[in-house]
Amino acid sequence: MKELQLFNTLGREKQAFKPLNKQNVTVYHCGPTVYWTQHIGNMRAAFFGDIVNRSLRQLGYKVTFVRNYTDVGHLSGDNEGDADSGIDRMEKAAKREMKTPEEIAAFYKNQFDTDLEKLQVITPDHRPAATDYIDAMIHLTTDLLQKGFAYQTDLAIYFDTSKKDDYYKLSGQNKDMLQSGHGHGNVSDEKKKNSSDFALWFFKSGSHEHALQTWSNPFSSVDGFPGWHIECSAMIKDILGDSIDIHLGGIEHITIHHTNEIAQSESANNKSLANYWLHNEHLDVNGGKMSKSDGTSFSISDVEDAGFDAIDLRYFFLQAHYRSKQNFTWDALQASATALERLKSKIKLLPQGGTINEVQVNNFLDCIKDDFNTAGALAVISDVLKSDISDADKRATIMEFNKVLGLNLHESKDVNVSEVPEDIKDLLQQRKEAREVKNWQLTDDLRDQIASLGYIVLDTADGQKIEKLDN
Ligand code: AMP
Ligand code: ZN
Repeated sequence: MKELQLFNTLGREKQAFKPLNKQNVTVYHCGPTVYWTQHIGNMRAAFFGDIVNRSLRQLGYKVTFVRNYTDVGHLSGDNEGDADSGIDRMEKAAKREMKTPEEIAAFYKNQFDTDLEKLQVITPDHRPAATDYIDAMIHLTTDLLQKGFAYQTDLAIYFDTSKKDDYYKLSGQNKDMLQSGHGHGNVSDEKKKNSSDFALWFFKSGSHEHALQTWSNPFSSVDGFPGWHIECSAMIKDILGDSIDIHLGGIEHITIHHTNEIAQSESANNKSLANYWLHNEHLDVNGGKMSKSDGTSFSISDVEDAGFDAIDLRYFFLQAHYRSKQNFTWDALQASATALERLKSKIKLLPQGGTINEVQVNNFLDCIKDDFNTAGALAVISDVLKSDISDADKRATIMEFNKVLGLNLHESKDVNVSEVPEDIKDLLQQRKEAREVKNWQLTDDLRDQIASLGYIVLDTADGQKIEKLDN
């Protein structure tokens, strides 16, 4: 049996997966900042987490999967490492919509969850919101201060990056590269020692004097709020422990956010934070970055308004490898929708009650085990359909694949009998009569005849139901 191979950003190679504890594989996924409608690029990231989650379970591991909601402290400029004086995204949204940050978080959390349900993303075991872990963040910050890895100024508490010898290990960058990737040197605090130092905690002073979400803290009589990076380190420690198996996130997190999570957690705990770091590439639209101003920042609602189902988007995502950029176009989504409908129609024709074909399941899992080769895994469906195993076994086998793929394969488009052409109606009537006199041969022949005209007939407790085949 092939082993599960993961491309580990730490080391930049595919490595065999060796869990810390086979009985409980721990996975953390950096989740969204809940301040705006998540676009289909964010959906690709959540979909990737879901593939990892479902695959591990299908491979027999017990999994604790955590994906957080960032609902405080993610400042504009944070992703570029230039955030000290940025604006909190939650605060920006609160002003935009004339609501409180809490109302903003509640609304967009709910919207995100609803979208992910449509995308068949299974609910993580834990979905912590950063604001529920402020004590854990204060605790970790205190620990870093006491151990000499952090220092305090009037404006913030910073992690001293010069104290961490292997600070650059995840990105493989050197200090100069990272600093240049660190924005424009807009350091608002002259007491900050190194430009790559980052805030663990901000005080409600300086450019953050009017911050809306702040907490009392043991560091000062001035209230404050956590930095974005410490949030993930604290939630991981609290929920999953000092060391986890797999840490997931978008590719843009390698140089700053994940580098800083590692620096904080490993300095405080003196243990490796995560053994495998997996990063998904981005989704482009029409060959370029998604952008609100260009009108290309599409959401699940946009996909539905255009007449598609969220699952069509899931099929589209499955066709690319997570480490490759993928380019979204409406034509490509249409092609995915067509392919999916065709597949569902074929599966509908297969009888139930078969057994899973182990050889084909192993072929499928071999693709999954190869660093989640979902495109290869999809192709195994065609192999099964072409194979010489029984139709019922084909169905059972493909349904087993669907536990990872999450494509709602048991569904297809119902058609109202009154909408079908007259000749089909005649055949349906003849078939109904054949069934009544238990002429099963004729019943089956009529089903085939109807199928050759592009319709599937199903026998239900309420009589015959009709569905349209796509091809
Ligand atoms: P944010 O709300 O900006 O923190 O992003 C939430 C998640 O979506 C993060 O894991 C990002 O890496 C991911 N993400 C953002 N933009 C894209 C994109 N264009 N394609 C894929 N993932 C993205
Ligand atoms: Zn994170």
